[in-house]
Amino acid sequence: MAQPIRVSFEFFPPKTEEMEKNLWEAIRRLAPLSPNFVSVTYGAGGSTRERTHSTVRRIVTETALTPAAHLTCVAATKPEIDTVIQSYRDAGVRHIVALRGDPTEGVAAKYAPHPGGYRNAADLVAGIKRIADIEVSVSAYPEKHPDSLNVNADIDMLKAKVDAGATRAMTQFFFENDRYFDYLDKVRARGIYIPIVPGILPVQNFKQMKNFADRTGASVPRWLADRFDGLDDDVATRKLIAAAVAAEQVLDLVERGVTDFHFYTMNRADLVYAVCHLLGLRPAAKKAA
Ligand code: FAD
Repeated sequence: MAQPIRVSFEFFPPKTEEMEKNLWEAIRRLAPLSPNFVSVTYGAGGSTRERTHSTVRRIVTETALTPAAHLTCVAATKPEIDTVIQSYRDAGVRHIVALRGDPTEGVAAKYAPHPGGYRNAADLVAGIKRIADIEVSVSAYPEKHPDSLNVNADIDMLKAKVDAGATRAMTQFFFENDRYFDYLDKVRARGIYIPIVPGILPVQNFKQMKNFADRTGASVPRWLADRFDGLDDDVATRKLIAAAVAAEQVLDLVERGVTDFHFYTMNRADLVYAVCHLLGLRPAAKKAA
């Protein structure tokens, strides 16, 4: 492959000891692939937020990985969010993924900014940049965010986030690569030149993914449903199909010039590791040998 491939891995904070064990197994398995960064998502409640903070702190202290902490505007005042930003800065975190977030009542509810909070993701990006010299990434939606009137309104928000200081966007997952490239054309035509890194979701569980996709406006093509059809009770075959689907998608993206990928790992390493191997990534120690 002509261009070096760079990857990042997204994890979510674990709820139980068992989940914590799985997360750290996944981190240890994927770390030798030398990701550009690993990101940790941010939830709505106080306890899940504390789990994000502690996971990020543990990545800083126990690994050589570069963490990116997700942060949202939801259910917090500006001073509360600023305290989180300052504590990340003080802990050595140099990258935040800034998001509006979803209403605490769920994605179906109408979003309203918290009184005294950051109004939206662009406002949050500006807030982070005021506090610290921290790299800020944001989201992007090749198939439009469900709250947006149209793709142009979405791209206006992306432009506002970039103007506020964001230097990278990771996309919602998608399965039709043409949709990503159509979106990229529109983004570039609007004068936005930051990397728009495709978000790749290896399908660990088709039903779960479909539910999630329905809530987030990502389309699930018929051909994809057909590939998983009849495999509900056949984990082993499902895994092989999932690896094949993700491999096909990323190799096509590479063929068409993409060099950076953001993987939604769901805290599991195996499929992501296999796809990264296909992308030519090898564990750091072996590379050096
Ligand atoms: P924004 O960029 O702020 O908005 C997306 C679109 O919606 C824009 O077009 C904007 O104009 C429009 N819009 C926003 N608000 C309104 C409104 N009130 N009325 C009309 N239009 C509006 N969520 C979490 O809770 N925690 C996470 O850690 C997390 N990580 C994510 C990581 C990635 C890479 C992605 C793609 C998403 C992530 N999300 C996360 C989901 C995200 O918070 C939701 O999709 C949320 O609904 C939008 O926040 P945003 O910053 O992505 O969108």
